[in-house]
Amino acid sequence: MRIKLAAGNWKMNGVQASLAEISALSDHTQGPSEVAICPPATLVAAAVAIAGDVAIGGQDCHAKTSGAHTGDISAEMLKDAGAAYVITGHSERREDHSESDADVNAKTQAGWAAGLSVILCIGESLEERESGATLDRMAAQMAASVPDGATGANLVIAYEPIWAIGTGKVPSLDEIAEVHAFIRKTLTDRFGDEGAKMRVLYGGSVKPSNAAEIFAVADVDGALVGGASLKAADFSGIIEALN
Ligand code: PEP
Repeated sequence: MRIKLAAGNWKMNGVQASLAEISALSDHTQGPSEVAICPPATLVAAAVAIAGDVAIGGQDCHAKTSGAHTGDISAEMLKDAGAAYVITGHSERREDHSESDADVNAKTQAGWAAGLSVILCIGESLEERESGATLDRMAAQMAASVPDGATGANLVIAYEPIWAIGTGKVPSLDEIAEVHAFIRKTLTDRFGDEGAKMRVLYGGSVKPSNAAEIFAVADVDGALVGGASLKAADFSGIIEALN
């Protein structure tokens, strides 16, 4: 039985005053689903201090534990600040920082070494979707970016079609079902029972108004949410749809 997860990715948004949005989620964390927020690194420790039942995560980590990497943060630092999760492989990191599947693999291993659970993002471009290459792309990304040693406890996969992120566009429910079934089969073929325990989230323009129908799709174990996680009023609607 997989515990469903509503994870918010605040991206490069949020200042101290934004922590009130996390506090305001406290009325929505009694349900069976897990709730997580990944604020910017500057807010991780302060978020942990007021988070209550909301798990806090980082949005990225360096593959190394320490050293001469100006501006970067390590998974150990996130763990030390009280984080439980770290996102790796978000398409904005892959695009803005030219992160390869090999980089994502190394960062994921660093997250595990620090004791974090990793939310590892994969997803196709619009061109790949339109040329019918989506499933091949998912297979290739998972083969190269998911390290050996993945378990139901240390890995969450987030399927995020790049063209659906922040655009208001969402794949059809059949398309989501097809990709999630493919991801699940790929995980169980490789990791057996542990693959069956891994949560597979959908991400890309999830809102309170479309969350329930997406969560009703087989093998969708929750969502990774960007814009609609910034305000408790929106994110709580998504959490309620999951519960
Ligand atoms: C994301 O950034 O992971 C995401 C899914 O963003 P949005 O919900 O805004 O599309």
